[in-house]
Amino acid sequence: MSLIVQKYGGTSLASIERIKAVAEKIKKIKDDNNQLVVSVSAMSGETNRLIKVANQIHNNPSVREMDVLLTTGEQITISLLSMALHQINCDAISYTGPQVQIITDSKHGKARIKTIQDHKIRKSLAENKVVVIAGFQGVDINGNITTLGRGGSDTTAVALSATLKADECQIYTDVDGVYTADPRIEPNAKRMNVVSYEEMLEMSSLGSKVLQIRSVEFASKYKVPLRVLSSMIEKPKGTLITDEENIMEKVLISGIAHNKDEAKLSLINVANEPGTAYKILSAISDANIEIDMIIQGASDNEEMTNLAFTVNRNDFDNAKEILKRIGNEVNAKDIRYDNKVVKVSLVGVGMRSHTGIASRMFKALHKENINIQMISTSEIKISVIIDEKYLELAVRSLHDAFKLDMIREDNF
Ligand code: ADP
Ligand code: ASP
Ligand code: MG
Repeated sequence: MSLIVQKYGGTSLASIERIKAVAEKIKKIKDDNNQLVVSVSAMSGETNRLIKVANQIHNNPSVREMDVLLTTGEQITISLLSMALHQINCDAISYTGPQVQIITDSKHGKARIKTIQDHKIRKSLAENKVVVIAGFQGVDINGNITTLGRGGSDTTAVALSATLKADECQIYTDVDGVYTADPRIEPNAKRMNVVSYEEMLEMSSLGSKVLQIRSVEFASKYKVPLRVLSSMIEKPKGTLITDEENIMEKVLISGIAHNKDEAKLSLINVANEPGTAYKILSAISDANIEIDMIIQGASDNEEMTNLAFTVNRNDFDNAKEILKRIGNEVNAKDIRYDNKVVKVSLVGVGMRSHTGIASRMFKALHKENINIQMISTSEIKISVIIDEKYLELAVRSLHDAFKLDMIREDNF
């Protein structure tokens, strides 16, 4: 008998019919002599709807109350899915995060899981029940309800798998695995059979929202065999995320990630002296704003320098206000703002051993007349910031330039 943890995302539970279809799928797997723990998201659109409602009541709602509100979405789906299972004679029980004691820190809206108590889950499994657990939520040591950040149900599922030492963690979503690019942007994107934890970490951190980054961190740390699959098709093949050494077939580039949530801020002609970058960037991070890319470069005057960085678009207005203040302190000649930029990244462990990838990437963008505004690289990725109007064109031309639609074809 295997113990399987599954997660069903919002689109998989978007209607009564879908919930019933998921229940049928679960029953079949259980009847195949498996134990099942199922973590679910809210119905698709529900979390966004709740955020909108809150913003109509208060222009800056309390983070604690937001968590109380947003966790209701998952409370609906755990109960409905359990009822759908009862209806087809499959014994099941639902639990919220606090009920099973998914203990997190107290950072509302982006809490991290510290521990999960397993006795309730084990007891219900021993009673031959499917255990349905609300994703995305937990409770801090003071009893406050917390949420794990957008897409957090993935992390709930992986953390449950690690705690219960599950044989596999299956993330069911609306695409059949991890693709060489977001299939909604690049129709020629190909499903990958396997991806390493490391590549998936980069893809997630660079914007591929198919898996929340923390779920991949967890999976990598606790060696959870993680599979992404479609809940919409009969026999999904999916993608296995595993250790690099388990992957026989090596590829140069595994995928293209993009992030639409970028905003760029630049200070022109600030003093080229020790402490300038510190003054500017610490003011931003003191306001709890995460900085993504940073470039400091020469200006037309040796005593002056230019500094540009990107933040999440949600933080754009705050960052702007801070820069207006700091800009005066560092005597910036000009401050420029642009929240119509996106980040496009090439990811692949093969980059470690190959040169010339960057120039191939830049050539492809040049061919399409796409201007690169910022560049950042690491061992296994190259990212560029470009105007948002070129997003689709950039993703597709890079996909084409690196022949990503060919590489995987013989793997199917
Ligand atoms: P769920 O509601 O099931 O959690 P998400 O919307 O969070 O689903 O994640 C699935 C979506 O991730 C897909 O519909 C797809 O548009 C997007 N996505 C982005 N990059 C990729 C990629 N490389 N491979 C597959 N899907 C991707
Ligand atoms: N419902 C939450 C969200 O929309 C969590 C999740 O879907 O994983 O972000
Ligand atoms: Mg998701």
